[in-house]
Amino acid sequence: MHLSKNDPEVASALNHELARQQDGLEMIPSENYVSEAVLEALGSIGTNKYSEGYPGVRYYGGCEWVDVIENLARDRAKALFGVTHANVQPASGCAANIATLFALLNPGDTLMGMNLFYGGHMTHGLPVNFSGRYYKSVQYTSTPDGYMDFDQMMALAREHKPKLIIVGATAYPRIIDWKKARVVADEVGAFLMADISHIAGLIVSGDHPSPVGIADVITTTTHKTLRGPRGAMILCNGNPSTPLKKVEVARENIPTLIDRAIIPGIQGGPHNHQTAAIAVALKEAAMPSFKEYGHQIVKNAKALSSRLVDRGFDLVTGGTDNHLMVVNLTNKGISGKQAEAALGRAGITVNKNTVPFEPRSPFDPSGIRLGTPALTSRGMKETEMEIVGELIARAITSWNDDAKLDEVESEVREMTEKFPIYKDINYEN
Ligand SMILES: *Cc1c(COP(=O)(O)O)cnc(C)c1O
Repeated sequence: MHLSKNDPEVASALNHELARQQDGLEMIPSENYVSEAVLEALGSIGTNKYSEGYPGVRYYGGCEWVDVIENLARDRAKALFGVTHANVQPASGCAANIATLFALLNPGDTLMGMNLFYGGHMTHGLPVNFSGRYYKSVQYTSTPDGYMDFDQMMALAREHKPKLIIVGATAYPRIIDWKKARVVADEVGAFLMADISHIAGLIVSGDHPSPVGIADVITTTTHKTLRGPRGAMILCNGNPSTPLKKVEVARENIPTLIDRAIIPGIQGGPHNHQTAAIAVALKEAAMPSFKEYGHQIVKNAKALSSRLVDRGFDLVTGGTDNHLMVVNLTNKGISGKQAEAALGRAGITVNKNTVPFEPRSPFDPSGIRLGTPALTSRGMKETEMEIVGELIARAITSWNDDAKLDEVESEVREMTEKFPIYKDINYEN
C-alpha cells in the first residue's frame, strides 16, 4: 500500500506498535481498542477540510458535508448523554478543560479541584499546569482510606470561595457522588464542572451515575472507556445564542460561553476526521452491546481486584466500583516504578501511580494503576481476569528475576493470541 511504499520507516514502526498492542496485556485504564470503523473514519479525507466555526456558521466555504458530520456527532452526543448542547471540537481532554476554564473564569479567579497525587488531573489546578498558574488553585485530597473527601471539600470551599469546582479523576476507583459535590458548589455559589473523561463509557452503560442535571458543565475525552478516537467533548444544557455573541458569565449562558471558548478562544479549525470518528464511536456506544461492554468492564475489574486482594495486595479503598484500581505496593517491598518495569518486561503494560498520602515521590511512587477497558474490548472475561491477577502477582513477586519474568511473558503471549485484534491490518503490505 501507499504507506509502506512511501515511508517504510513509519510503516515499520506502526507495525511494531500493532504487534505490541496485540501481544501484550494493555492495562492502562485510560487506553482502549477502537473499532475498525472508527479507525477508517479517523484516517479519512475529513482531515483536508478547514471549517472554523460551527455547522451552519462557518468562516469557510464548502462546509456542507462536514456540517453533516459534525451535526451527526453533536446529535448523537446529546441523545446518548441526555443533554441539549454538545461541543465535539476539543482536540483532546486537556483542550476541553482549558476551554471550560477559559469560558467561566478570569485569570486570577479561584478554582478548586482534586489534587493530582490523590487521583485528580493536572488540568484541575496542578501548580505547574496552566490551571494552577493562571488561576488561584485550591486542591482537595481524600480521606485516609482513599475516598473523595466531601467534608474537606466543603471546608475548603467555605474558606476560599472558588468560582468553579472541578470534580472528576484519573485514578479514583469508586463511584463519584455528584450530588454531594453540587451541595458544596451551591453553598458557595460556584459553577460545578464534572470531568467524566475516565468513566464516560460507564455512564453510558449505566454502571456509574451521570452528572447530567447536577453539574453545570461536563467535559470528557472520547478515547477512554467511551472507546472512540482520541478527542473530547463538552456537554451542557441550554442553547447557544445564534450568532454567538459576547455574553456575561452566568449559568444560563454556558453553551454560548463554551462554544466561544473553543473558537475563537483556544482552537482554530476543527479536526473533521476526528469528528467523523467520534460520530461513529457514539453510534456504537448507543447500541445495546455497548451496555454489555460497560457491565463487563466493571465485572472484570471486580474479578481482578478480588484475585489481587486474595494474593495479599493492598488496594486503595480496598477494591473498585468502576474500571480501575490503584495498588499500593508498600507491603510487597517494591516501588511503583520497579513494578511498572517488571510487568512491562512480562508483557503487561501498566503505569506507576501515587497513592493517597504518598510517602515516596511522584516520579517513583508507591503504587500502580490497573484497568480493564482494553482487555474487555478484546473479549476477555472474569476467567481471564483471574489468570491476569495470577500473572501480575507472579511478576511482582519475581520482579528482579528475568527468567521468571520471561516465563510470565510467554504465558501472556499464549493468552493474548486467543484474543486477536485488527486481523486485517498490516502497515507493511
Ligand atoms: C485523560 C484525562 C484528561 C485529559 O485528556 P487528554 O486527552 O490526555 O488531554 C482530562 N481529565 C481527566 C479526568 C482525564 O482522565
